[in-house]
Formats: sequence, C-alpha cells, structure tokens
Amino acid sequence: MNINLSVECETCGDPTNCRIGMSNREEQPFRFCCQTCGSPIDIIIRESRGGEFHGAKQLLPDLYPFDDKTNFVDLHLDFPVAFGKYVVGKTPFMEAAQRIGYEELKLHGFRLAYLTEEATPKLRVFTLLLKLFRNGKWAPFKTSCSRNFDVDVKSDAPQDRAAALYKVISKVMMPFAFPGQDAEASHLSTSTMHQVTNEHPAAIRAFMAEIIGNDFLRNLQNSCLDIYPKILEAELPLRPVLFLDFDVQFANNPIPLRISNEAFESYKDLYKDISEIVSRQFVLVAGINNLLKRGGHNAFEPGIGQTKGGKDFTPKSLHDFSDVAFGKKLGFIDDSWFEPLEDGADNQLRNAIAHVKTDYDEVNQVITYYPRLEGMNQAKPEQMTFIQFMRRLLQTYREMRRLNHLIKGLFYLQYLVIDRDKPATDAAKS
Ligand SMILES: [Zn+2]
Repeated sequence: MNINLSVECETCGDPTNCRIGMSNREEQPFRFCCQTCGSPIDIIIRESRGGEFHGAKQLLPDLYPFDDKTNFVDLHLDFPVAFGKYVVGKTPFMEAAQRIGYEELKLHGFRLAYLTEEATPKLRVFTLLLKLFRNGKWAPFKTSCSRNFDVDVKSDAPQDRAAALYKVISKVMMPFAFPGQDAEASHLSTSTMHQVTNEHPAAIRAFMAEIIGNDFLRNLQNSCLDIYPKILEAELPLRPVLFLDFDVQFANNPIPLRISNEAFESYKDLYKDISEIVSRQFVLVAGINNLLKRGGHNAFEPGIGQTKGGKDFTPKSLHDFSDVAFGKKLGFIDDSWFEPLEDGADNQLRNAIAHVKTDYDEVNQVITYYPRLEGMNQAKPEQMTFIQFMRRLLQTYREMRRLNHLIKGLFYLQYLVIDRDKPATDAAKS
C-alpha cells in the first residue's frame, strides 16, 4: 500500500511531494532532506494514529496528482528507493520486485518480519543478557536465557554457558547474517581447531597460554559482544541494505539509491569500532596461520615483509604483528586459511572516518572522503553513497561475526581440551 502526501519545509517554505510505501510495522519513521535547502524532514507514520511531522508541516489538501516540477521523494523502510522524478506506478515495491526474483523477495520479507516481530522487541533484554555474561552474573544469565530466548544453559560448566550465549546471539542476529554464512564460519573454525590441535598439540597450547594469559581473547570477545546490540539498533537504515544481498545488479553497478531513514553521522563511529575489532581479530587469524604453516604462532613467513629497498618489516612475533596498521595486516599472512570477505575490511575508509576527513551531502546521500593521509592537502577525494556505506558497515559486521566464531572455537578448545588435560598434567608432576 502507498500513501501520497505533501509537506511544506519549515525552513524554506518549499513543498515536497512524498510517496510512502508502507511496511509491516506499527511505527514507521522516515527521514529525508529538503531538496531546496537541505534541512532534515522527519515523518513518522503510525498505523493507529496517522502522521507526525518534524521540520515540515503537512499540506492539506495534498498536491495530488503530483507534477514533476515540485520536489519529490519516494520513501520505503524496507527497500532502497530511486532518486528522481515522480512516475505513476513506479513505486519502490514494484521497482524492488523487478530488481530481484520472487523467491528472494520472499526471503527478504521473512528476514524483515523476523526483525520486526522477534529481534528488535528483545533489544533491551538482549543487551542485558550480554552484560550478565560479561560480568559473570550466572544465575540471572541462566534465567534470562530460558525466559527470554527459550535457550537452556545445560550446566554451570563454562562451555555450556558459552554455548547458550552463542545460541542466543545466533537467534537474535539471524536477520543480519548472509544466508548460510554463520554455519559456514562455525564449521571452518571447528575444523581448523581440530587440524591445528592434531598437528601441533604443544604449539597450540603455547598460543592459547599467551592469548588466555594476557586476556587478549577475553577482551576481544567482550568487544564483539558490545557490537551486537548496536547493529540491532541500526535496524532501520539496515533494512534496505539487507535487500542488496539479493540484488546482483546493484553489486555490479551501484546506482545511487536512497535509504528512507537517513543518518550517516550516527554510524561513522560504529563503522570505525567494528573495523578496529576486525583488525584485532586478524591477530588470531595470523597466529593460527603461523601454527598451521610453521608450527609456531610467532613464526611469520621469513621475508614476507621484505621491501624492494631491502628493508624487512616481517613481524618478529604475534605481539609485534598486533601493532601493524590494519591495512597492512593481511599482507603478512601468507596463503591464509581464512578468506576475508569482500568489503569486510576497508582500511582507507576506516582511516578517513577515524581522522574525520569526510563530507556528507544529506540531500543526495553522498559521502565524500579523503582516503590518503595527505596532511593539510585533501586531494583525491572518493565518493560513496550512504547506502554503499551502510553496506560496508554490514559487511564489516559480518566479518566480525565470522571471526567471532573463531573466538568461540578457541574458548571451546581451552575448556574442552586444554583445561581437561590440566588436572592430569598436574597430577603427573606431583
Ligand atoms: Zn527547505
């Protein structure tokens, strides 16, 4: 169903015609910027109580039938929408349906319905549950798992608590996963753990002793846990981005598309935070790669950091490697067992955002950034649309999620293999 309405900008007085495609939500908050003056306009549609307007007032009667001289926006929370003139019948839904197939449209609808009905209503209890886990408040953790998420904590063993935690995360975060990606990442980390434990039993213990002993693994897991609720909170602008999972056309030829809940500034820090976590997670990838290839987590391929000028930047240890800049990390991991996601780690964008070298055009939703560090001279700008940026955010989150499976696998290894062997070793010593 579509609603047509007209609003008048409070700042400049110019009218905008809006065609709003309704999604299956009680409350639908839209935001766009006035094409004349750039001021933000918010429209909140509630099924039960009609519309609420900020930054503009509704024009009654509306200017229907719309002409093509007045400012016009298509709005829909569930799909990316085109910029441009009003065309009768070319609604966001019809456009979306043409871009992907019927089966994919159904799958997209299923994920969004799950988000609306199952995931987002649990944001508060989910955030709390992650905090309980972090702080080791086991009795309320256990209660919340079963009461709010229908997940049983089988025993007080650490592996059973971890299993419950990750089951809850999988349930709540399901709509943000690329279909099949979670299972694949979990399987890869399990099989890699097996391989490295069988082939290098002593060396993997030395690796684990280091990352458990200095709390690297625990801190990294906690950082990941902080991100999940933030992604869930970003649900509104991510809805149309999830659509792009099925839109091959967009992947190959990213045309400017609008997100109907515009807010770039709010997500810059989130992108930076997740990128930093992924950068730390690469330390685990490198350690395991060194174990698999050379039987020691500190053993980087000799000469891999050799420059043409003869300098050798090869990290001397994993500890050294953790200080390597994000963009250079993958270059030191030879023939990695872990294949990074496309767009899962964009160092240039991260740098630009971390150093506040971005300009944002709210009307056209275009971000201009200056990827190279050039001091005062902001030459060579690059551009991406807000929807492309949000897609990077989603992909970077997914990379973090994939590598969170590795963290989970390492903790299981500690609990189920290394800790289990400990009493026997201690007994043998005495
Ligand atoms: Zn205006």
